[in-house]
Amino acid sequence: MTAPQTPTTAEELRGAGLRVTAARVALLETVRNGDHLGVEAIASGVRERVGHISLQAVYEALHALTTAGLVRRLEPPGSPARFEGRVGDNHHHLVCRSCGALADVDCAVGHAPCLTASDDRGFSVDEAEVIYWGLCPDCSTARSS
Ligand SMILES: [Zn+2]
Ligand SMILES: [Zn+2]
Repeated sequence: MTAPQTPTTAEELRGAGLRVTAARVALLETVRNGDHLGVEAIASGVRERVGHISLQAVYEALHALTTAGLVRRLEPPGSPARFEGRVGDNHHHLVCRSCGALADVDCAVGHAPCLTASDDRGFSVDEAEVIYWGLCPDCSTARSS
C-alpha cells in the first residue's frame, strides 16, 4: 500500500465519473481558490490558466461539476449565481442586502441539524439551505456614519 495521498484535481474529476479536460481542471481549481465566484469571474480565472474558453463552455463545465457534486451552486434570490468548492458540509451563508457580499457560516448547531425539519411532511430531505440576510460590516458602518 502506498501512503494516502490527496487526489489531484484530475483524479477527483475522474472519481466523480467526469471526463478530464484542461478546462474542467482549471475551473475546479478556480472555484476552489475563489470565494463564491460568479460565472464571469470564474471564466476569467479559467482563461488565465488555459487560454480562451467560451462562456458557454464555462457554463457547461460548471453544470457538469455541480451535478457531480464537486461544486456547489448558490443562488441568493435577486443576485446572480455564485459557485464554491466547499461542498457536502451543509454550511450556510451570510448575504449583505446592500452590496451582495457573501460569507460562509458553519451550520448553526453542529453537524447538519438543519436537515431535521420540524415537520418533513413526508419529504425525504437531503439538504437544508439557510441564508442569513443583513448588512455586512462595511455597509453597516457606512450607513451609521
Ligand atoms: Zn455590504
Ligand atoms: Zn460557502
